Amino acid sequence: MAHEATVAEEEYLQIIFWLQEAGLPMTGANVARAMQLSPPTVHEMIGRLERDGYITRAPNKAISFTPEGLVHAEGIVRRHRLIERFLTDVLGIPWHEVHEEAERLEHAMSPVLEERMLAAIGDAKTCPHGHPIQPGERVIGVPLGDVEHGAKVTILRFENEAEDLLALFHEEGVEPGTSGSVIEADDEHITVDFGDHTATLTRSVAETVSVLADPSPPPRTALPEQLVLGRERYGR
Ligand SMILES: [Zn+2]
Ligand SMILES: [Zn+2]
Repeated sequence: MAHEATVAEEEYLQIIFWLQEAGLPMTGANVARAMQLSPPTVHEMIGRLERDGYITRAPNKAISFTPEGLVHAEGIVRRHRLIERFLTDVLGIPWHEVHEEAERLEHAMSPVLEERMLAAIGDAKTCPHGHPIQPGERVIGVPLGDVEHGAKVTILRFENEAEDLLALFHEEGVEPGTSGSVIEADDEHITVDFGDHTATLTRSVAETVSVLADPSPPPRTALPEQLVLGRERYGR
């Protein structure tokens, strides 16, 4: 492709990729919800992505990646997650502080630097928030908000990486890879006992956390309107 993607185009490609990865409908409406932007703004950018050859739109408005668009989207998503992992594991930056840094760095990274960073993170397979660095390796989960009282859970990932949400999870000691049991679940809150501490989250926050559960409700990813909580745009 002769065209160089702009930073704004790459932000959209990331969001559209996340919708595809999560198995959610790839529509302008869902992009607008996810990015908390007005439909006309999103409509204009979707048109630009189509003209530049990254996506196509079906008559029913469903968005698909072109082969070039998919490669580009996977590249930006992979770099974002790799940078986050590098910042936590190699530079020692707390995991709730790396998303915004990665948003800035991901657009300006050479293939050589990417290769070096990949070597530096060892065998880590996900970003610190649980998203697979190699696209396509996503484990299917359920929203923590769907899980019943008494179930065992393992935290898979945070679907919304807004800074204020990540800070809340950090404070509550909710971290991808940790396991516990749901010891309380009412209309407003859900409490998980992780053994050495408990964490209480509101239902709407618990909706944004994907887990493995036993017993498990049916697999599902929350729709974008349920995932948008903070004023921050939500990330992957
Ligand atoms: Zn992120
Ligand atoms: Zn992340």
